[in-house]
Amino acid sequence: MTGLDAARRRLAAERASAEARRAALRRDLDSIVDASSAGADDEHDPEGSSTAYDRQHVAALLGQAEDQLAAIDRAGQRLADGSYGRCQRCGRPIAAGRLAARPAAATCIACASAGGPRP
Ligand SMILES: [Zn+2]
Repeated sequence: MTGLDAARRRLAAERASAEARRAALRRDLDSIVDASSAGADDEHDPEGSSTAYDRQHVAALLGQAEDQLAAIDRAGQRLADGSYGRCQRCGRPIAAGRLAARPAAATCIACASAGGPRP
């Protein structure tokens, strides 16, 4: 079961980097909100709407980071209950290469490309 050990290590590394990304994005979002609520942004923001755009953009990235953390946690639960590595849609094994690249993947390549939740 060394495959599972490798998966566990990859998931832990994925989780650490996703948490770091989420923390950085939260700081970014806070600083954007602070700057716009203080009204101090006018001087170096000639476009006016760029702050709102930045905020939406960072909020979207933050949402993605949180989704990824949730996916990593679900993958950790699948590791615990023995269903890790099996497609959550069709039940077939997920290719090892896909799991290496995306340890939190819940579906096989065929199901993911056949129109999963991602556009
Ligand atoms: Zn599948």
